[in-house]
Amino acid sequence: MINTATIRPRKRIALIAHDNKKEDMLEWAKYNAGTLEKHILYATGTTGKLLEKELGLEINVLESGPLGGDMQVGARISNGEIDFMIFFWDPLCPLPHDPDVKALLRVAVVWNIPIAMNRSSADFIISSSLMAQEYCRKLPDYENYRRRLDK
Ligand code: PGA
Repeated sequence: MINTATIRPRKRIALIAHDNKKEDMLEWAKYNAGTLEKHILYATGTTGKLLEKELGLEINVLESGPLGGDMQVGARISNGEIDFMIFFWDPLCPLPHDPDVKALLRVAVVWNIPIAMNRSSADFIISSSLMAQEYCRKLPDYENYRRRLDK
């Protein structure tokens, strides 16, 4: 049996940008503010405050990334509370919370969440016709994995 989760037209979007990518995120979000404001937005601490202050977007601001914000986003993804993620991570700078970044990207793949990790991918996602529609996200079947200890 194939399990699915419905992504509704009003999407729950997580926005995260590492420090060297915040300018990029700000520019991208400014250009797409009209679209973003129709959805439910979450962001890690500094990214969220920046977007609220500069663009006046209403954002559910979580903890700052290095203080656990990435893990809060990951937990929401596992709970089925985030529909997709725009995550501009910095490929040129090691960070104290690198393990959290890896865990977050991993969990997004585990749950088949769309992820954009650079501007051009984010442009493709936000301009997709699926943005305004309901979408059935296929959920991998993890039942066998969950039951492996029952045997
Ligand atoms: P920040 O966290 O938005 O609080 O800067 C982002 C991150 O480093 O993951």
